[in-house]
Amino acid sequence: SHPVYARIDGPVVLIGFGSIGRGTLPLIRRHFEIDADKLTVIEPDAGKADMLKREGVRHVQKALTPENYRTVLGDAVEPGAGFVVNLSVDTSSLDLMKFCRELGVPYIDTVVEPWAGYYFGTEDNAARTNFALRQAVRDEKAANPGGSTAVSCCGANPGMVSWFVKEALLTLASDLGRDTTLPAARAGWAALMRDLGVKGVHIAERDTQVRLEPRPLGVFVNTWSVEGFIAEGFQPAELGWGTFEPWFPENGHRQEVGCRAAIWLEQPGANTRVNTWCPTPGPQFGFLVTHNEAISIADYYTVGDPAAPEFRPTCHYAYHPCDDAVLSLHEMFGSGQIQEEHHILEVDEITSGIDELGVLLYGHEKNALWFGSRLSNDETKDLAPDQNATALQVSSAVLAGMVWALENPGAGIVETDEMDHARCLEVQRPYLGPVEAHYTDWTPLTDRQSQFPEDLIEEEPWAFRNVLAG
Ligand code: NAD
Repeated sequence: SHPVYARIDGPVVLIGFGSIGRGTLPLIRRHFEIDADKLTVIEPDAGKADMLKREGVRHVQKALTPENYRTVLGDAVEPGAGFVVNLSVDTSSLDLMKFCRELGVPYIDTVVEPWAGYYFGTEDNAARTNFALRQAVRDEKAANPGGSTAVSCCGANPGMVSWFVKEALLTLASDLGRDTTLPAARAGWAALMRDLGVKGVHIAERDTQVRLEPRPLGVFVNTWSVEGFIAEGFQPAELGWGTFEPWFPENGHRQEVGCRAAIWLEQPGANTRVNTWCPTPGPQFGFLVTHNEAISIADYYTVGDPAAPEFRPTCHYAYHPCDDAVLSLHEMFGSGQIQEEHHILEVDEITSGIDELGVLLYGHEKNALWFGSRLSNDETKDLAPDQNATALQVSSAVLAGMVWALENPGAGIVETDEMDHARCLEVQRPYLGPVEAHYTDWTPLTDRQSQFPEDLIEEEPWAFRNVLAG
């Protein structure tokens, strides 16, 4: 009963077989006709060898490095055919994408990842931002427009949430009785957001997945890559910076080159709390972890000159990971030590919970609208094998991105904001559980504990000053 979207001639090569790779493999087999004997996984971890053998997949047990990637990946692919699906850590998305485009092989990833050593070996904080990583990909796109399609950052977030922003804008337009004609291009979408009075967007997520065993001391527990989360958590907090903001953080830095859409703070994102809202908990703290979409969305919806825009929304992640991950962060920052033992919660050990991941569009006539997926781990078990709810939101976005790439083979380097959001969500939606829109009258000034003086901006409830928790 599952649709087969395309036939892929030539080798399908997955780089990395972690929580997302494991979840994506069955979706690729389900939704594409492929040459089974040409399915390859490049994965350095010897612990994955048995699993890959059982899957009947060719396993290249090597870590890609700057020195070997052209040979190792070059040996696994066929020019002008197949697909490269990069779901690894510690590999340069930009180098791999450029190589695939050189060979005419479609490419997709879920994050702009650098080579190993970058996150903790780079002294200059400005160079450690996602702005810098993303701008390098945007510069490559500008220098070499068109050509073989390479989809950048197509997971849940970054990725799916950019499609949600568009759905949320159309929902808001309809609920306000405005024109709901689909804008034809970027400028039209940006004008729509501005005209609807949206001041900013939180990528507002609450992960309530739990297991029975309490988190042991010294173990970092999460629902997806622990390594990936720690790496991004230590990057500077970073956000798309809106034109409505009446205040600027003392430890904030603007960008002077490229799209200029974001600012960064002199503090680690996973230790920076913000006030936000999701349907299940209502108001909650989230962590302002830097993410590509915070910059890409602020960039995409800019009206006017990027250096002095007429309109730009504020945009940032506001992430409440699963409770065990919150405790893991607390332990890590408190001790100054990164835990050596890492654990990703398996679908079968999770006893309950959902990953509620959406976009909160705020500041407009109806105050705020959350639009997103409220996928439970239980429902995930019925929808797809080998993954929890968090992974399915990511792997199904990878599936949608692959379908779009195959349908648009000469699109060059694209981000999810630049793809056909309706087509992508059409492919992805069967895997997202309830996808819902919720309005709220909550603002960051609602129910403040007021026994102590606070430095608030009363006349602009959505000012980042009020969003940022003390
Ligand atoms: P994971 O840590 O479970 O797995 C990563 C895998 O990459 C591991 O199996 C590891 O052995 C392998 N690897 C490490 N170095 C490698 C190298 N040099 N060459 C090839 N493989 C290598 O991570 P995950 O949860 O599967 O996440 C995979 C990637 O997807 C990460 O980069 C993560 O940040 C990203 N991600 C994106 C989203 C999103 O929504 N956009 C969500 C979750 C994860």
